[in-house]
Amino acid sequence: MKKRKQAKDDFNLVVENAFDFFKKSLAEFDKEPKYSVIHFHAAIELIMKARLLWEHWTLIVIRPETANLKSFRSGDFQSVSIKDAKMRLESIVQDGLSQAEYECFLRLSDHRNRVVHFYHPGNTGDKTALEKIVAEQCLAWYHVSRIFERWSDQFQSYKKEIAKIDKAMHKHRKYLKAKFGALAEDIKKLKDRGITFSVCPSCGFKSFGEDSGDEPILDYECLVCKASETGLLVECPECGEKNTLIGEPWYECKKCNHKFDEQDVQAFLTKDFVYDKHDPDRSIVAHCEECDGYEMVVQVNGTWICSQCFTKYNSEEIGRCDWCNSLSTGNLENSYFMGCVACEGKSGWDSNKDD
Ligand SMILES: [Zn+2]
Ligand SMILES: [Zn+2]
Ligand SMILES: [Zn+2]
Ligand SMILES: [Zn+2]
Repeated sequence: MKKRKQAKDDFNLVVENAFDFFKKSLAEFDKEPKYSVIHFHAAIELIMKARLLWEHWTLIVIRPETANLKSFRSGDFQSVSIKDAKMRLESIVQDGLSQAEYECFLRLSDHRNRVVHFYHPGNTGDKTALEKIVAEQCLAWYHVSRIFERWSDQFQSYKKEIAKIDKAMHKHRKYLKAKFGALAEDIKKLKDRGITFSVCPSCGFKSFGEDSGDEPILDYECLVCKASETGLLVECPECGEKNTLIGEPWYECKKCNHKFDEQDVQAFLTKDFVYDKHDPDRSIVAHCEECDGYEMVVQVNGTWICSQCFTKYNSEEIGRCDWCNSLSTGNLENSYFMGCVACEGKSGWDSNKDD
């Protein structure tokens, strides 16, 4: 019991430290962008560490097998990087980062490393370099906000702190105003070509372009901050109204308030599929490696897309598991023994037999 409390205290200290770094990073951007880069990165890294710490303190030590509680308490240990944290979140906590989140955080690491070990063009007051930093910080905050929602069990008592940083991020966007202004001409041209623009959920400018050329799949990209999302245009199963779902299925129907879920999306995307009794092997659903979705990936206009996390796959990324014979994404090279997203293969079968 006491141990558990100590672990919670450690968690809280790390999270408070993270918020402190976020605040510092935003406050010092004007005068010292260099420190802003370093501190913003530190904040993101601390959030990842906090989540690992929630599971067990040894998970944030680079080599857990050498971890010792005394040196941990005194801070005398090498802690994990974002890269290590990603792998551990996936394999141990089973609550990993999406590819987009990971890539965004790695870019922050890259900026940080250049500042610390070399120099960074942003230091010399180069305006475009500064804009780039702010754009990436906006994008990173957008991703972290969604991570906070996913990890709400751990971060629910930090709602106020999160809202405060959110407000500061809104102000931070002023650095992108000039960039948005400079894009006016491009946006106009794209509008003439049928691309519609809405407010970007990451940077807040009306620069979030929607390409509907592959309907019902919608592709979004922000011209200012490069935030990108995949959306789906899905009919409501209750009232038939078409709804735009961006990045996830959990929206409310704008007409009848029906709450969409991944099953609705999957049912809509497969509604025209005719089952061929002469070809019973032909499956139309695959498991999703990205979100562990069972039979959530379906084929739409030659692209495979997950009804739950909206990750897109091309047909080469879909394969058949040699053990359970279902379609899956992910590495299937050794699937007879290792299994797929939905099964544990022969090795899992054998070890269950022994139990
Ligand atoms: Zn944006
Ligand atoms: Zn409806
Ligand atoms: Zn998925
Ligand atoms: Zn399988």
